[in-house]
Amino acid sequence: CGIVGYIGRQDAAPVVLEGLTRLEHRGYDSAGVAVLGTRGVRVAKQAGRVRDLTAALPKRFTGTTGIGHTRWATHGPATDGNAHPHQDESGRVAVVHNGIIDNSAALRAGLTDAGVTLASDTDTEVIAHLVARSDADTLEGKVRDALGSVVGTYGLAVLHADFPDRIVVARNGSPLVVGVGDKEMYVASDLAAIVRHTTTVAMLDDGEMATVTAAGFTTMRHSDLASTGKTASEVDID
Ligand code: GLU
Repeated sequence: CGIVGYIGRQDAAPVVLEGLTRLEHRGYDSAGVAVLGTRGVRVAKQAGRVRDLTAALPKRFTGTTGIGHTRWATHGPATDGNAHPHQDESGRVAVVHNGIIDNSAALRAGLTDAGVTLASDTDTEVIAHLVARSDADTLEGKVRDALGSVVGTYGLAVLHADFPDRIVVARNGSPLVVGVGDKEMYVASDLAAIVRHTTTVAMLDDGEMATVTAAGFTTMRHSDLASTGKTASEVDID
């Protein structure tokens, strides 16, 4: 339903959680956040409101890179375990996703046959495992490989402990915007989540993905990683 991400010098969780509250009017049943810091990826997620998640955050939930989600369940009930972010078995990957993976039943069966233990009932979780299992050398390559097997709609954001300097986002049928700050960058499913931080933004198109670092962003096609060369521009907010 809603996605917010941050990478920069600040502690990411408060920025992400505040952004998620700006999307609450859209409705949701669960909320979650992942941060990537010196201790790897950490996730906090639960059914219910963003303010309850905020109140329940573990101590020292720190990291200057983070992604968060408000979920409107389509596949699996509104439980703590089905809330996003979803992770692979190693816990090195975290994924938030808006939309529906149409072939998730087949992908779940294939992963189970390959010995993967699925932790949730969601369509989304397969993406985390597919990213983790790709043998591509880059996070962009791993996301390309994962999306190559996925049929459906998505706006998504991915963190990986082995690539701590970036968030990779991708869009197919569910909106995503990248926002440019001063040595810090934002991503969101809706401009409303980040407009208090920046009005210099780039909207992704379907079939596009972006690498977002604290210093800037680059865009490419997620089918073959060919550059799409998108740049940010000022939006007029009223
Ligand atoms: N299909 C996903 C799920 O049920 C994402 C739903 C959403 O867009 O919030 O978990």
